[in-house]
Amino acid sequence: MLSAQEGVLASFGLHPWYISERTDWWLDKLETLLVASPGAGVGELGLDHAMDKFTHGLQEEIFLYQLRLANRLNRTVSIHCRRAFERMITLLEKEGGVGPGGVLHSFSGPKELIPSLKNLDCIFLFQDQSPPKATGEGLRRSGRFPRSACSSKRTARICCLPH
Ligand SMILES: [Zn+2]
Repeated sequence: MLSAQEGVLASFGLHPWYISERTDWWLDKLETLLVASPGAGVGELGLDHAMDKFTHGLQEEIFLYQLRLANRLNRTVSIHCRRAFERMITLLEKEGGVGPGGVLHSFSGPKELIPSLKNLDCIFLFQDQSPPKATGEGLRRSGRFPRSACSSKRTARICCLPH
């Protein structure tokens, strides 16, 4: 089914919003899906600190399981992150980054964190439904996301979805 859609890449993962619905075999199932789909990525995986605090520890545990699996299988990751950017960076640095690369969608963190994420080979996505100042162009114009932040030789790039 997915291979019939040229230009569409599958991604399998357990989103932090749905961790309470996981089965005992979710990680085995995820690995099975990934092995059967060599071009697929992992995600969304991530941290959402806008959710109840009591879920944060479990979110990290599940995020790390998936990140390690992605790195072991050399897959890209699609990262969901809300109000947890510093913790996300700490975990990514401890794990040695995101293997072949990652997408961090709807980035809304402070510009001071951008160099750290850039060094971890993260691509930033800004969605058009974000408030105007939070869009890629808005951030660049405001100086919140300086153009120099994406001039590295590494793979970090800014991708703005069409408005
Ligand atoms: Zn998300």
